[in-house]
Amino acid sequence: MTDASGFHASPTQRTAAALLSRSFAYEADVLPISYDGTTLTVGVSAAGPELLEELRQQTRKTVRTILLPVREIRECLKQAYPPAATRDADSQAAQALDEIFSAAIGSYACDVHLEPTDARAGRVRLDVDGVLQHDRQLESGLFERVVALLKVRSNMNTGESRLPQDGRLAVTFDGRSFDVRTSTIPVGGLEKVVLRFLQRFDLVPDLEQLGMGSELMARYQRALKRPGAFCVIAGPTGSGKSTTSYASLQTIDLSHVNVCSVEDPIECQVPGIAQIAVNERAGITFPVALRALLRQNPHQLFIGEMRDGDTVSIALQASLTGISLITTLHARDALRVPTRLAELGANRSTLASSLTIAVSQRLLRMLCRRCKIRSSISSQALAVGRRYGLALGAEAWEAQGCDVCDYSGFQGRVGAFEVLEIRPELAAAIERGDAPADLGKIAFVMGYRPMIVDALRHVAAGITSEGELLRHLSFEDAE
Ligand SMILES: [Zn+2]
Repeated sequence: MTDASGFHASPTQRTAAALLSRSFAYEADVLPISYDGTTLTVGVSAAGPELLEELRQQTRKTVRTILLPVREIRECLKQAYPPAATRDADSQAAQALDEIFSAAIGSYACDVHLEPTDARAGRVRLDVDGVLQHDRQLESGLFERVVALLKVRSNMNTGESRLPQDGRLAVTFDGRSFDVRTSTIPVGGLEKVVLRFLQRFDLVPDLEQLGMGSELMARYQRALKRPGAFCVIAGPTGSGKSTTSYASLQTIDLSHVNVCSVEDPIECQVPGIAQIAVNERAGITFPVALRALLRQNPHQLFIGEMRDGDTVSIALQASLTGISLITTLHARDALRVPTRLAELGANRSTLASSLTIAVSQRLLRMLCRRCKIRSSISSQALAVGRRYGLALGAEAWEAQGCDVCDYSGFQGRVGAFEVLEIRPELAAAIERGDAPADLGKIAFVMGYRPMIVDALRHVAAGITSEGELLRHLSFEDAE
C-alpha cells in the first residue's frame, strides 16, 4: 500500500472510503482500509476515545482501528481518495452500468448476464423472452470495475470473489423504480454476475393477460376459491410458473385473510403477504419455514416450489386442515403432477383427497405483429386439432424479423395452459396409482385438453408460430 503512483484502491477500500468524507480523512489523518458489511477498519496514527467517537458518529458503523505511522497514512490517502484520472475510471463504470440498466429496461429483459470472456474483459447479454441477446462488450478492466460497482451497490462483501454471493439493489429509471436481485459466481478467476429484475406485484399481468382462455380461467378460479384448495402449477424452469402464481395470488382479497409464503428466492414483493425467503446456509429451508408459518394459523399459503418429501408432506397435512395452498412443481405437465408428488413421498390416498387442481403451462413467444408472414399449418397440427375438436384453418403465420422486434420476429410471450380438475373419478384413479396417460383418458371425458391444444389455439389465431410451439411441445405427446 506504499506505492501511490498508478495504484488502484481495492473495491473494499473504495467502499470504506465512501463511508468517510475526504476532508475529514485528510484533516484527522484517518485512512479507510476496508469495510466488510459490518465493521469499518481504519488506520490512525493515535487512537483517542474522541476520534473513535467522531468516527462512529460519521459512519454509523462499528469501527476498528489499526495504528500506522502518520507518514504512511498521508501517502496512502492518495490511493483511497484517488485523483481525477482514477475517478474518471469509476465514473466510466457508473456510466456503463447506467447504460446496461437502460438497455435492459428498454428491451423488457428479465435477466442481465455479465460474463467474463478473456483477460479481464467481459460481455453483457440480456435475457429477452427466454432468449439471450448480445448487448455489449466491456473492455479489459472496465468489466471488473462494473462488477465491483454492482457488488458495492448490492451490499455484497466486495473483498470476497471466490464464493458465490447474493444481494439486492434498487434502480430508478425514467421515474420508475425496479428491484433487482444480484448474484455472483466465481468463473476462471473473475466473477459472473446475473441481475434479475423482480416483478412488481401491481404490474403482474392477470390470468387473462397471461393468455388463459375464459373457459380454463373459470375452472381455475372456481378451484382457487374452494376452502382448503390445493393448487399445483407445474412446468419446467422458465415456463412462467412464478408469474402465474403471483397472478393467482392477485385473485385473493388479501385484506381479510392471513396469507404467508415461503419462496426461493422471493421474485416479487407482495404487499399484505408475509413472505419468507429460503436461506439454506442459515438453516431456513422450505420445511423449517413452513412449520414456523403453520404455527401462526395462516388461511392461505404460497409455497414457491415443492422439491422435497418433507415439504410435500407438510403441504398435504396443511391442506387437510383446511389451509388453501398454491404451489409450483417441476413436472412436465398437469397429468404428471400426481406421479411426481408420489415420487417425492406423498401418500396416494392423502394426495387423492387433497389435490384440487393441477395447472401446467409453457410461455410461447408471440409473433411480431409488424413483420409476421403467412404460412400454412402442418398436417400433424391439423390431426391433433381434429382429434381434440379444435377447428383449425389451413393458414398460419411465421416469424420474419424487422427493426421493431430487433430482427427476432417475436415480441412478448403468451401462456399455453392446461387445467386438470381433480373430480372424484380422477381422485380414485390417483389413489390407485394410474399412469399419467390413463389419468388423461379419464380427464378427457370431463373436458380436460392437453396444453398443446391451447398452444394450437394461439397458432390458429396468428399469435405464435407452429415453429415456436415445437420448441416447447411435441405433437407425439398429444397422441
Ligand atoms: Zn418484427
